[in-house]
Amino acid sequence: MPAPPADSAAVRRLNLSRALRHLADHGPRSRSELSAATGLAHGSLTALTADLIDRGLVREAGLTPAGGRGRPRRQLELAPGRVLTLAVRITRRRLQVTVADLAGRPRHRATLPHRTPQGDPRPLARAVADALREAGAAALAVPGAHLWGAVMAMPGPVDAHATDGATAFSTDFGWPGPVPLTALVRAELLRTEPALAGLPLALVNDANLAALAEYRALLPHRAAPPRSLAYLKADIGVGGGLVLDGRIHTGGHGVAGEPGHMPVAFDGPPCACGARGCLALYVGPEALADAAGFAGLRAAEGADAALVALGAALAAGEPRAVDALDTAGEVLGAAVLAVTSLLDADEVVLGGYLADWHPWLERGLTARLSGRRALSDRLVPAPVPGVLGADAALAGALTYARDTVLDDPASVPVAVSAASASAASASGSGSGASTSDSGSG
Ligand SMILES: [Zn+2]
Repeated sequence: MPAPPADSAAVRRLNLSRALRHLADHGPRSRSELSAATGLAHGSLTALTADLIDRGLVREAGLTPAGGRGRPRRQLELAPGRVLTLAVRITRRRLQVTVADLAGRPRHRATLPHRTPQGDPRPLARAVADALREAGAAALAVPGAHLWGAVMAMPGPVDAHATDGATAFSTDFGWPGPVPLTALVRAELLRTEPALAGLPLALVNDANLAALAEYRALLPHRAAPPRSLAYLKADIGVGGGLVLDGRIHTGGHGVAGEPGHMPVAFDGPPCACGARGCLALYVGPEALADAAGFAGLRAAEGADAALVALGAALAAGEPRAVDALDTAGEVLGAAVLAVTSLLDADEVVLGGYLADWHPWLERGLTARLSGRRALSDRLVPAPVPGVLGADAALAGALTYARDTVLDDPASVPVAVSAASASAASASGSGSGASTSDSGSG
């Protein structure tokens, strides 16, 4: 059990978070409604909302709709544009950058190609710092805005608890060991834009962020928030994430929820990881392309070209492609059984081409899962395709940043003055004037 808050300041921070999160999740509410929903006494809530207004996080809006009992009451709502967060999705070839406010409204978007030599992380750190500088300038151009920080979505295992800042280990970039990417980006910022060097920087695995975004996308469609969600995706590799009680669970070394090296066949072929019969050897891009008859194309033009050809073959109903997906579905089913047996997951969501090709995976999946379902039909959820596609990781990075702000609104400073804050909100927020699109896409 978590320790009780140490003092009244900690309790106050917690209560500020409860009030702000309720407004963020449920939209405009009167103080009375907020008090009833959060269980905070009316007097205490009045003080808390005054604090949130001083910080520019909340503003007074219209009156409660007529027709209810009693006199109409002034509503409070999330103030647009006050807190801006940056999200950077790092892939092998490009950086996708977004600036958004707490309501998720984008203020700036860019896609920046980068060339990073294999094995040397410094050019990537430089490119990320350049992207942050450009996005930070766009954010700070919004009058009255507070730039909270940035979340970087990175492929490969991320250890957020390393002693010299979060580290990433990426075979995509040919890094031989964990790289202190956060520290490298901060050093670049310090050299080129010292004003941004103190910005909070979070480094999170991209599939974990995608899992978080898919979890949030499911919420409106479920009667109650799922306790646990397992996300399994495949694109340039096999990855995934776990969301427990609404939060990403990273495990002891940052690799929880990574299904790629989950053993699905003890007598299977040897894997580069040292084990045998790993899931990636059956549903990974190379394995799937080869099983469908595109080994030659893959050797000549790469896995991406082979996957495009496989997609076309599936759409055309070519038997070898359909059979390959059918077999992959069964193997995936074994992995889903293992995950759900251990976790008692409420939801299993598929991403990448596992989502796109779900119709061809479904028979194999269902065949594997039906035995356990016959025993107890609620213990193994039906895997569903994710709805966010390739945008999931970037959306997850913004969600992660937003959660961090909503968890501790007191980390946002009091706005310069009520007067200048309201002038700024009148002239700057909601106009979209600072939204820009640049880059090559
Ligand atoms: Zn393996």
